[in-house]
Amino acid sequence: MSVSADAACRNADTAAADTTAVLPVLGADVRVPLATGGEIEYAALDYAASAPALRRVWEDIAAYAPYYGSVHRGAGYLSQLSTDLFEESRATVAEFLGCRPDDQVVFTRSTTDSLNLLAAVLPADTRVYVFETEHHAALLPWRGHDTTYLDAPPTPRHAVAVLDEALHAAPKGPKLVCVTGASNVTGELWPVEELAAAAHRHGARIVLDAAQLAPHRPVDIAELDVDWVAFSGHKLYAPFGAGVLAGRADWLRAAEPYLAGGGASRKVSRRPDGGVEVEWQTSAARHEAGSPNVIGAYAIAAACRALTEAGFERLVEREQRLIARLRAGLAEVPGIRVLSLFGDDAPRVGVLSFVVAGWNSSQFAAALSAEHGIGVRDGLFCAHPLLRVLLGAEEDGPGECGSSSLDAIRVSFGVGTPDEHIDRFLGAVRQLVRG
Ligand code: PLP
Repeated sequence: MSVSADAACRNADTAAADTTAVLPVLGADVRVPLATGGEIEYAALDYAASAPALRRVWEDIAAYAPYYGSVHRGAGYLSQLSTDLFEESRATVAEFLGCRPDDQVVFTRSTTDSLNLLAAVLPADTRVYVFETEHHAALLPWRGHDTTYLDAPPTPRHAVAVLDEALHAAPKGPKLVCVTGASNVTGELWPVEELAAAAHRHGARIVLDAAQLAPHRPVDIAELDVDWVAFSGHKLYAPFGAGVLAGRADWLRAAEPYLAGGGASRKVSRRPDGGVEVEWQTSAARHEAGSPNVIGAYAIAAACRALTEAGFERLVEREQRLIARLRAGLAEVPGIRVLSLFGDDAPRVGVLSFVVAGWNSSQFAAALSAEHGIGVRDGLFCAHPLLRVLLGAEEDGPGECGSSSLDAIRVSFGVGTPDEHIDRFLGAVRQLVRG
């Protein structure tokens, strides 16, 4: 018996009410109350924070749920089945990311967890290079290391030149570059291949924060020639508490386990002096101590399969059409400033931040919700240094990831977004600005 995607009780008739979304997601027909009276279909335009689950992911999980069992620690049939599914999920993710034969795929809790894991396994004296424009998850884990924070570059070309120069001046020894694939604030793509080439020219390694890239573009670890990739399931339509760190095995194998405990250890014995001797695993299990999140891993694998089958070419083509529609619509509204580091022509994914003259961003976002049933995000998006660069502002005492008078509004979308949500958003923005 196996619990395959095909065995799941999939039914095209259960597809969501919208007609233009590429892949059906849960919640597409949820209605929410309006402060102005009545209710309306919810327009989820905050995919960059957490995307809704793909219906396909939900169905695969539902099909597996009755067979749920412990992973790597049970002789029973369901334990064996769950162990197989967990390891098959690892293989699916490796294929999705185009991993090299020697790469390891470690299941973590999230991108934040993945990057903290990598920070914990860096060889002693590793120097880290990171742009100030990163999400805090990619900016902060390296604080225990000698870290160079590079200034926000005005263009992708400058980014490569600045990194090249910094690495050229770096002393000998291990070096790591951490860079995002797509900004969680502007949606702009970073020149990952070129940055990887610059890193490798100088003997540095590079980790790609693909939290915002993987849901929108194919990420091929070998083609991009990056050493590691990190992403989160909940941004990839698989909100079940798992993430991924995939890439080079050597530093992962050489380091102490991220967490000490069962599963990470191969053999534990008492020493003559009364202590405890441990032989750690050398596989990905070394950094997956404790009972693994098989549901989370299986959900990520289901999302990888669904996105691959849908075809990124088609997804990207449609997303670009919606981005153009959104940007053209916002350009017609007086007082709107779209935030951008690399300029209007920069390639980007479906993530866009803006400010509205005369409006406090949190009030604007609240009005979109209360009066139009539209869910967006406001604040500094856990990228405080970048927001200060984009807004040209000084410190304003914001709460972590929270909002302040120095903040912006972010609208983001993906494969489950119908055209109508973008149009409703633009109509709401026009109405609020006029009002
Ligand atoms: N990196 C980027 C670019 C992000 O946008 C985010 C979350 O918004 C993260 C990392 C952290 O992801 P998580 O909260 O899933 O750990």
